[in-house]
Amino acid sequence: MRFALPCLLLLIAAGCARPAIDTSHRAKSQDSRAQFLILHFTGEPWERSMHILTEENVSAHYLVRDNPVKVYRLVDEDRRAWHAGVSSWKGQTQLNAASIGIEIQNLGDVAGPDGKVVYHPYPKEQIDTVVELVRQIVARHGIRPDRVLAHSDIAPMRKVDPGPTFPWKRLADEGLITWPDPAKVAARKPAFEASLPDAAWFQARLATHGFDIARTGAFDAATTRILGNFQMKYRPEVYDGRPDAETAAILDVLTAP
Ligand SMILES: [Zn+2]
Repeated sequence: MRFALPCLLLLIAAGCARPAIDTSHRAKSQDSRAQFLILHFTGEPWERSMHILTEENVSAHYLVRDNPVKVYRLVDEDRRAWHAGVSSWKGQTQLNAASIGIEIQNLGDVAGPDGKVVYHPYPKEQIDTVVELVRQIVARHGIRPDRVLAHSDIAPMRKVDPGPTFPWKRLADEGLITWPDPAKVAARKPAFEASLPDAAWFQARLATHGFDIARTGAFDAATTRILGNFQMKYRPEVYDGRPDAETAAILDVLTAP
């Protein structure tokens, strides 16, 4: 305490001012801190979703309600939201710091009457709103189409959201994500039907695509899980995680040099 007054006097003597900042020179080399856009489903009823995302230790920049369709901004885009968790894409980790997160209100995966897991559909009006929101965010931050991703891409061992009912093809048709050319996929499929690549090939291509995957050379549980997540996005009719010719062809087209 006895130093407080002299220090205060010194500050007053120095003008007590913040340093003057001249912004007349601006650097050409800069971009947005937001390099990725990550899509999620909440997997909870509406009130619970809003509570978790505003009161607990997780958050997202946006929450898109389903009924009525409405967009909430919970975190400003220049601040970090806690939506990605432990995550990785093409070697870049901890994606909260470099991403914008959108949570989409959807109950996600639930056990059906026969015990099998089923996923809730997304209403068209909600998807229309998500598409428009994505379009605005990627334009604002210059986010590349190959960096508009699912939580299930960047944390495949923990997450499946936004799940197989999310219409990624719609985002592709709008030019918002990269998508394999169907003609090229069809052209390459017969060769893979004749000879399906081994686990090492699938793991190498999944890693090139962006997944953090161990190169064990075997169709192990992790590879099955990651293949399933890949199929949910690009071939949602069947996402059992089994390697097949169509999955190989899609992967081959997406990772072609
Ligand atoms: Zn998520």
